[in-house]
Amino acid sequence: MKFNKELDSIKVYEAGKPIELVVREFGIAPEEVVKLASNENPLGTSPRVAATIRANADKAHLYPDDSMFELKEALSQRYDVLEETLIIGAGSDQVLEFVSRAKLHPGAKVLMSRVTFAMYEIYARQQGATILRTPDWRHRPEEFLAMMREHRPDVVYLCTPNNPTGDAMRREDLFAVLDGADPETLVVVDGAYMEYARAKDPDYAVDPREILEYPNALYLGTFSKAYGLGGMRVGYGIAQPGIIEALLKLRPPFNITTLSLAAAITACSDDEFLEKSLALHREQIGRYEAYARAHRFDYIESYTNFITWNFGGDLNSTDLAEALLERGVIVRDLASYGLNALRITVGTAAQNDRLFAAMDEILG
Ligand SMILES: *Cc1c(COP(=O)(O)O)cnc(C)c1O
Repeated sequence: MKFNKELDSIKVYEAGKPIELVVREFGIAPEEVVKLASNENPLGTSPRVAATIRANADKAHLYPDDSMFELKEALSQRYDVLEETLIIGAGSDQVLEFVSRAKLHPGAKVLMSRVTFAMYEIYARQQGATILRTPDWRHRPEEFLAMMREHRPDVVYLCTPNNPTGDAMRREDLFAVLDGADPETLVVVDGAYMEYARAKDPDYAVDPREILEYPNALYLGTFSKAYGLGGMRVGYGIAQPGIIEALLKLRPPFNITTLSLAAAITACSDDEFLEKSLALHREQIGRYEAYARAHRFDYIESYTNFITWNFGGDLNSTDLAEALLERGVIVRDLASYGLNALRITVGTAAQNDRLFAAMDEILG
């Protein structure tokens, strides 16, 4: 059967490997598997959120409040923005999809960094748009500005902090790109890891409110990372009302579930869990930097909940990922991004112990 020709150039997104796969392929008990591949919160679900989900268990027959009034109210207080500047998605991924459908079509152009979140390209290809990438794997403002002047892209993605590299843009560099954008160019600032950047160095963090000052920018946030709700699928976009109105036309009704909505509302006021998550991360990430230094390979300074180990000639990331998998440790190989690198979510102390022990065994 023939399908739309746009699909011919799309490779199916490769999600982090699930625990179930390691159990099946290597016969390792599920509780022995350490998953550090999808940037999930290693502390698990916040106890307060888990209690909310349980308390709402008998509401599964009800459609959620489609206005998402309470969640919008909670987000508007958290970020000091008006409710009409908010859109909620099934993960911020769904908001990315709305952006693509709202702005892109065959002949339209999108600009992104050479190495960045894979979904930007997939959603753009679905619309038949042309993909442009800056030469460097880092977000270099001068490269973005030059390509914006030359190509006048319809959408620009700034992933800061960036997945899968972990680096982030300085505030002044981010604002330089925003200031130089054509009014018809929608600049998407994907802040999926912004909580980690803010905790590490405020020079690399922005508030949604600051992005809201630009009539052609959209800020994206998610509950999947620092808030520990990847399985609940809730994200949001913040932009001036004209942009939000356009995106809302693409939103299907009831796009997040009754339980997800309840969970996200509780998460908004769960600062204790957020602080605990950030503190654990701060305490553990130094071990990954030290391990890399001790074994003489590079790492990228991280502003996220993961670290990217970048290998020289003598180590191969694909072989390493496979050897770790055999030992029950799941990490993300970045070979498909053209890098000889591994992206590893910083886990709990015990999970990280397991990873270092497996690495010691592999490296001999
Ligand atoms: C995880 C992630 C998202 C979105 O995750 P959702 O679970 O769909 O909210 C968006 N952008 C980047 C860069 C991410 O890493």
